[in-house]
Amino acid sequence: MNHIQGDLIYEGKAKRIYTTKNPDEVLVEFKNDATAFNAKKHSKIDGKGRLNCLISVALFKLLETSGIKTHFLELQSETLFLAKKITIIPLEVVIRNVATGSLCRETPIIEGTKLDPPLLDLYYKDDELGDPILTEARIKLLDFIDDLHLQEIEKIAREVNLILVKYFFLLDLSLVDFKLEFGFDVDGNLIVADEISPDNCRLWDRTKSDPKDRILDKDRFRQDLGGVIDAYGEILKRIQGNSRKAT
Ligand code: UDP
Repeated sequence: MNHIQGDLIYEGKAKRIYTTKNPDEVLVEFKNDATAFNAKKHSKIDGKGRLNCLISVALFKLLETSGIKTHFLELQSETLFLAKKITIIPLEVVIRNVATGSLCRETPIIEGTKLDPPLLDLYYKDDELGDPILTEARIKLLDFIDDLHLQEIEKIAREVNLILVKYFFLLDLSLVDFKLEFGFDVDGNLIVADEISPDNCRLWDRTKSDPKDRILDKDRFRQDLGGVIDAYGEILKRIQGNSRKAT
């Protein structure tokens, strides 16, 4: 059944957003497109939208039960969920528990270094500019978010990290790093938005030691390792196994 009756209001690299009858709510549809390196690499992977949607929904529900406000409202189909309409803040908030990726490309920090306390990096969300890293002074200059909201965003992001690290540990997964986006709902509440999936989290299988075999996230696509769907499917399988144990 097609649940989409509204107008397309936004199409990004991995999702489409549609209006609904309720002006305060939108539909979020997950696409099968995979992009990396600021969309220079692009491909379609059958089944990816479904897996990212179901994984994101499970993680948004987990956050909600832990007292974190998110935009998620209700799953509508396996690739579609109803969400609160928000004004997105042009920030990409990255939390890193283990050094890898851009941190190791751009600094002399050794790959695999444990980061305790976790490192929080802020990037300006702008594809044309290539999502540049921000400093406190640049944020002040750009003037798109005030100090108090920024402090709240950092506090929530660190709480989300604690919740997710503990949760994934129980699934024999290590949460290496991830990216969050935030927005304001119609009442001005700060809420976690976008998605939380292997497209924007690095997850390593703790039962494997081989540095390539253990990768269960978008790095499989970025590094042409293959097995993207199997890896994402494994994450969903472990999440579903865990929720069955809880009921
Ligand atoms: N990330 C993301 N979107 C971006 C950039 C990064 O979701 O535009 C996620 C990425 O999947 C990883 C974390 O943020 O989990 C840190 O990414 P990093 O800065 O290391 O960049 P990369 O190595 O992916 O270029």
